[in-house]
Amino acid sequence: MSKKEENKEIKEEKEEQSLTNLPGVGAATVEKLEQAGYTDFLSIAVASPAGLAEKIGMTASAARKVIQAARSSLDMGFETGDILLEKRQQVEKLKIPSENINQLLGGGFETGAIVEAFGPYGSSKTQIAHQLCVSCQLTGGTAVYIDTENTFRPERIVQMAKAAGIDPQEALKKIKVARAYNSDHQMLLAEKIEELIKEKDANVKIVIVDSLTAHFRAEFVGRGTLADRQQKLNRHMHILSKLASTYNICVFVTNQVMAKPDMFFGDPTEAIGGHIVAHNSTFRMYLRKGKKGTRVAKLVDSPNLPDSEAAFVITEDGIKDV
Ligand code: ADP
Ligand code: MG
Repeated sequence: MSKKEENKEIKEEKEEQSLTNLPGVGAATVEKLEQAGYTDFLSIAVASPAGLAEKIGMTASAARKVIQAARSSLDMGFETGDILLEKRQQVEKLKIPSENINQLLGGGFETGAIVEAFGPYGSSKTQIAHQLCVSCQLTGGTAVYIDTENTFRPERIVQMAKAAGIDPQEALKKIKVARAYNSDHQMLLAEKIEELIKEKDANVKIVIVDSLTAHFRAEFVGRGTLADRQQKLNRHMHILSKLASTYNICVFVTNQVMAKPDMFFGDPTEAIGGHIVAHNSTFRMYLRKGKKGTRVAKLVDSPNLPDSEAAFVITEDGIKDV
């Protein structure tokens, strides 16, 4: 298939999912829907008629029709266990040179999942992101990197690639990096990733958003805007989550934890984005500095793995066990 044909195919698929296919929904309503956070069929399918009617300014019966149409066009049914097992068998576990961290995650960074690394400044979130870009190439994968803090360093990739026995120039060619200038730009870039994934022989195995939350935190200040921020962040993570499961990719996101000097009780390691980010992440790793320059990763809230810890170090060659 030529590039042009492929692009056409992508466009056609997009059109098929367009909200304008819903009954009584034109461009103006789509805009209202999107502003209210209803960006895809699923978000509409699970909405309540009264809620949708109020937010969009349509009658309840019109809202009901829209919801019904969204539901029937979605494959929202049950799947049999054997199909689910088959999907599970396609899951790959991407390994980095720290066996401690791999084991903490049950064997490696899972494709089809979102892995969130949260921790204070300097806890190695970005270093692990770089490591994943290199390590995924050992099994033929490539990486996509959304850099929001301008901390991606090709020089660091060169060091890690050399240590992994990969030609550094080749390694760099297999990492597509985009700098995101604000949260809207970041969300737009996330939507573009699908096109990169579909490119011939792309074999994207890892998608990185480093940092997931920095722009959101900076742009939405004050209590009044918190709900807006959470809604937008939720939408962003929804897109990432869909990429992970549709294309069997590991999405690695980083989240800086703020020190809360006014907090004496409760969890001091609470991450930005609160339950929205936590809910959307399949694996959550808390990173902190340990003794003598080491780092410690702790798995939290995992549904099927023990909450345990792994110690590691950052070396010139990359992430290694102590
Ligand atoms: P975060 O993203 O969590 O803020 P980073 O991933 O940027 O933190 O981690 C920064 C740490 O990585 C620093 O302590 C720095 O010393 C260490 N580091 C960066 N590059 C190297 C290297 N080439 N060799 C050893 N340590 C490094
Ligand atoms: Mg960082």
